[in-house]
Amino acid sequence: MSESERLPADVTDALEMILEPGDPVHAALREQVPHLRLHSRCTCGCGTAYFEIDTETVEPAPINPGSPVVAAAPLVTEDGECPGEVLVFSYGGYLTSLEVCSWGEDIEPTLADARRWLRSYD
Ligand SMILES: [Zn+2]
Repeated sequence: MSESERLPADVTDALEMILEPGDPVHAALREQVPHLRLHSRCTCGCGTAYFEIDTETVEPAPINPGSPVVAAAPLVTEDGECPGEVLVFSYGGYLTSLEVCSWGEDIEPTLADARRWLRSYD
């Protein structure tokens, strides 16, 4: 594993905030987080990140292959606005990406915003 491809802490934090330890599928996906490597990030600055994982050494999670979205969490600002959501995608039982979606035109949430607003959602 090369150092340059390690998952940034902001992505790791967001995944750990969204994936719930009490949910068996989420718990299995959380086990994958330390093994994820960063494949690429969206160039628009939105914080969307695409992953790579070594499927030889990591167990797949027991996921319904027909539903690639394994988790979705709305972003709620301090003012109670909901400018978007964070979605976590999988393929074949493995985490593939984390996407920060914007619903409005006024705010383009970044991953830093997402961390703050997911926290306030708790
Ligand atoms: Zn983007």
